[in-house]
Amino acid sequence: MLSVQEAESIILEQVPAPDEADIEAVSLEAASGRILAAPVTSDLDFPHWDNSAMDGYAVRHADLAGRPADLAIVEEIPAGSSPKKTLQPGQAARIFTGACLPEGADTVVMQEETQRNGDRVQILATPESGAFVRRRGSYYKAGDPLLPGGIALGAAEMAVLAAAQCLRVPVYRPLRVALLSTGNELVRPDRPLGPGQLVDSNQYGLAAWVQQMGAEPVRLGIIPDRPEALKSAIAKAILTADVVLSSGGVSVGEYDYIPKLLSELGGKIGVRSVAVKPGKPLTFATFPNCSYFGLPGNPVSALVTCWRFVGPALKKRSGLAESFWRPQWMQVRSRHELRSGGKRETYLWGKLRSVDGEIEFALAPGSQNSGNLINLAQTDALAVLPIGQTHVRAGESVRVLKVR
Ligand code: AMP
Ligand code: MG
Repeated sequence: MLSVQEAESIILEQVPAPDEADIEAVSLEAASGRILAAPVTSDLDFPHWDNSAMDGYAVRHADLAGRPADLAIVEEIPAGSSPKKTLQPGQAARIFTGACLPEGADTVVMQEETQRNGDRVQILATPESGAFVRRRGSYYKAGDPLLPGGIALGAAEMAVLAAAQCLRVPVYRPLRVALLSTGNELVRPDRPLGPGQLVDSNQYGLAAWVQQMGAEPVRLGIIPDRPEALKSAIAKAILTADVVLSSGGVSVGEYDYIPKLLSELGGKIGVRSVAVKPGKPLTFATFPNCSYFGLPGNPVSALVTCWRFVGPALKKRSGLAESFWRPQWMQVRSRHELRSGGKRETYLWGKLRSVDGEIEFALAPGSQNSGNLINLAQTDALAVLPIGQTHVRAGESVRVLKVR
């Protein structure tokens, strides 16, 4: 049985990063939420021109020595227009936020510090030289690196790409993640439940998570616990998807065929079981063009192993830079006492909340049993007890993994 760290390393080593063939150019509009596949530079300076950060008056700082300076207004410069005059000694220009600074001016006085009298203005307080001027190129110089490859394009990055007039954006294609639910007992949610039957909830939970990860779920449905049926479903899945997530059939029971079938199909088994609770039977195998995760069937185990192990792998495979792969850990106070058997690294589910300005982990009420899907709802963090630690007292600090 591998430790969590060993399993994580094997998985991250064996799941490939995307290559050139995975890059596509999309329109700016279609790039939102995608992963940038190459660094972007711009041939524009930011700001493009010296401009004003305030509504006020553009002045020559040297004119402000004798207070209160009284200057002649020679021009009005709204945003989007080009100044016509060069400021001479004793002159000012009325200027608005974002408007170009006129030649000769070096400072902007905010409107609130002035007194206007017809075509003259009195400066009531002297700002520092250069105040409220945004200098051309002071944020970014043309040709410098603008955005690195391997980042997700969120709101701020999209605004930067638009400002740089980047109309075609190189991004990685979305991953195709096939979902297979195995088990004779499983039925679709729209079917009546016979004795001993259970709804295939994993297909829905995993599809939602895959979507959240920016990948494309390919729902292959329920496969019964029959070796031939499973083998042909797996064979099809590994040919059509970049990553396969199956659930169930990886434990040590009579009907747990998956690991054997993966080997028969030529898969290289990297992980067969992990000292983690829940999620011990997690199985990972690689095929020439596909990474295969055999998740445990229990709904909590399936999601916890996704959060802990599959997430980093999907991030790598989808093209995110290495600094984003590892899970996000936090050290917070536990509201409740937490218990573990101490033999496996134990993940307990619950919620983070802010109490008096401090973040606290609150254990989900009810049974912390890997079959109890119900109290997993609204989980946004997992508290982690390492091997050997059997409890955390209420109020003590605990390491948590953010999952939302
Ligand atoms: P297994 O890993 O196949 O032994 O399944 C472990 C437990 O998870 C059993 O109680 C299964 O009924 C349940 N289970 C397996 N697959 C699913 C699924 N797709 N959705 C919900 N529960 C499942
Ligand atoms: Mg099963």
